Amino acid sequence: MRASDMKVTIKDLGVSAQEQLRERLDRAASLRCNDHGQSVVALTINGRENGWFDTRWTTCCESLEQQASAIVKQRC
Ligand SMILES: [Zn+2]
Repeated sequence: MRASDMKVTIKDLGVSAQEQLRERLDRAASLRCNDHGQSVVALTINGRENGWFDTRWTTCCESLEQQASAIVKQRC
């Protein structure tokens, strides 16, 4: 059973960084918005900037994006 249909695109990241991210991405994908009942639609990661993942989210609203972003956007 799939946890989510979140579409993930990762650019300019090595295999080890992707491994490191996998568990965080699973958690972000399993989030549901309290207001809209939606999961995250899509996430694009454009490599790293100043030691942080550079992420771009497609979500139903700001509040879901903030929750998902807080999970993924830790120092790497
Ligand atoms: Zn929402």
